[in-house]
Amino acid sequence: MMRIVLLGAPGSGKGTQAQRLQAKHGVPQVSSGDLLRDAVARGTELGRKAKAVMDSGQLVSDDIVLGLIRDRLSRPDAASGFILDGFPRNKDQANSLNALLTEIGQPLDAVLLLEVRKETLMQRLAGRRICPKCGTVYNVHSMAAGATGCSRDGAELYQRPDDREEVIGKRLEVYEQQTRPLVEHYSKLGLLRVVAGEGELDAVFERMEAAALTKPIPAGKVKVSAKRPAAKKPTAKKPASKKPASKKSVAKKSGPKKKSVAKKSAPKKFAKVAAKKPGKARPKKNVRKSAQKTARKTAARKTVKRAKLTQRRPAKKAARKQIARRKK
Ligand code: AMP
Repeated sequence: MMRIVLLGAPGSGKGTQAQRLQAKHGVPQVSSGDLLRDAVARGTELGRKAKAVMDSGQLVSDDIVLGLIRDRLSRPDAASGFILDGFPRNKDQANSLNALLTEIGQPLDAVLLLEVRKETLMQRLAGRRICPKCGTVYNVHSMAAGATGCSRDGAELYQRPDDREEVIGKRLEVYEQQTRPLVEHYSKLGLLRVVAGEGELDAVFERMEAAALTKPIPAGKVKVSAKRPAAKKPTAKKPASKKPASKKSVAKKSGPKKKSVAKKSAPKKFAKVAAKKPGKARPKKNVRKSAQKTARKTAARKTVKRAKLTQRRPAKKAARKQIARRKK
């Protein structure tokens, strides 16, 4: 079972990767662009409406696209999964898709984002050529010099009208403005997985496959073992209770043998005291008292010094008396 959405700019390789996933895992690729192009080629009313919009690089209306997707997902081969390619393309479509999938009881497993740099996108789109017979996609930059036909059936390759340089810019702009916000949308839902879309085709496919097949871990089962703030006070060991394990005890169980976080992070002297008297941390009050005592002694010493300096015996005497009183 694989119910995924492929997200990515035009030219990021969604179609190519979807075809490979389909071939290997038997899950149908559902491409909104292909469905629209098919309607255009058949000359249906919907196709006629869509053509001009597509050729200008804009998005076709949500109603039209959603209708096509709904029909396609209701076909039997999509009952056990699908790879959505090019849909959804904006927030409204994402919400409509969510409603549709809830209705047919087929929630999404993951959304894979193919990340590709803008320069690469431009080069891929402007150089893309397609075989009208078998649909194989080529790129003029990687074709043999002078070749213009399909290596499989010899048919003359063609360029998609929206792959013309003057339209490419518009499509990328539409992607940034309307589709890119879906990255955050699906990230918040915990469904997003980012795949580096540049490099060897096989390597990208491996990454895609791994991302598509990995089951997400439910948030409740995630144990975070990153550094935690030092405990303020070491606490006495309490007899085991039947309460569910606290975060602390979970961390202790999985952490290094018996070394408590408090002991590890507290200063040595403090740790010793804590070890001897578990649960009785040195009271703050004592610290304050001894600080006050030291302050008083210093003040008295200063008085003696002053008395010495001025050679006034009575003052010296008074200071000694003051020290004696305080010692008591
Ligand atoms: P694609 O083959 O995915 O690059 O799509 C080609 C064109 O079809 C796009 O530039 C849009 O005009 C139209 N299209 C494809 N999918 C959608 C969609 N989900 N919403 C609106 N328009 C779409």
